[in-house]
Amino acid sequence: TGDLMKGKRGLVMGVANKNSIAWAIAQQLHAQGAEMAFTYVGEGLERRVRPLAESLGAEVIIPCDVTDDTSMDEAFKTIEDKWGKIDFLVHAIAFADKEALKGSFVANTSREVFARAMDVSAFSFVDAANRASKIMNPGGSMITLTYLGSERVIPNYNMMGVAKAALEAATRYIARDLGKEGIRVNAISAGAIKTLSLGGIAGARSLLSEGRAWAPLREDTDPVGVAGAALYLLSDLGKSCTGETHHVDAGFHIVGMPEEDAIRG
Ligand code: NAD
Repeated sequence: TGDLMKGKRGLVMGVANKNSIAWAIAQQLHAQGAEMAFTYVGEGLERRVRPLAESLGAEVIIPCDVTDDTSMDEAFKTIEDKWGKIDFLVHAIAFADKEALKGSFVANTSREVFARAMDVSAFSFVDAANRASKIMNPGGSMITLTYLGSERVIPNYNMMGVAKAALEAATRYIARDLGKEGIRVNAISAGAIKTLSLGGIAGARSLLSEGRAWAPLREDTDPVGVAGAALYLLSDLGKSCTGETHHVDAGFHIVGMPEEDAIRG
């Protein structure tokens, strides 16, 4: 514990349950004194998110579907009414239809599936960043979560990889725009972590096991490490860092070919 986030208030979007990356981030921000508001989608998830958020003393726990303008309007208005200004935003939201997360990308990606994945997984950060910037103090900071499938071809990641490429490019353009206001915008490219979302990708288990076998650290990505990077980027420790995609993946992204003992028979 410490006070790196003392006096800072922010919005955390994307906690679904205790395995969510956003939850690991929220816990670490709380331990450093941050005050947070949380959003969730649907009553089913409210039952999971509310007790978690309350355990960190959250007073603002509100529904927000990023595909619905009215829902976004209401969520950001609630936060503005409550606090006036915020200091940070955590965006940890993604979705693609299951049929687009297996087999052939070119054959399994319809117009509707493409548009939906881009809307929820990439545009939602543009929209949330724009809304958040209007109530963000100078010195504020925003992060989003991405994955290596944006840069390299990863089996079954397919449409989500294309959406993450858009998300990372959007991060750079948003950083350019909001830099003038003293706001920093970065992405964390996390290695595979066992969450609800990961379960939607065909062969998710091999994303984990291959990641572990190839990565220089030879271990799973620890959500605590991802949260540590989030703390750095969202606190004043991250001063001068903006527009960056920072990999926290046990080093998986640097490997071009696995060591012999990591190649499966
Ligand atoms: P998760 O399932 O816990 O979180 C995904 C969140 O997206 C959920 O809270 C869900 O409610 C939210 N969401 C989906 N559609 C939404 C909508 N229309 N409106 C509002 N919220 C919506 O899984 P996670 O793995 O913690 O995912 C968080 C982020 O991290 C995602 O962007 C994901 O792509 C990214 N990421 C995950 C991994 C991994 O291996 N788990 C690796 C790298 C990046």
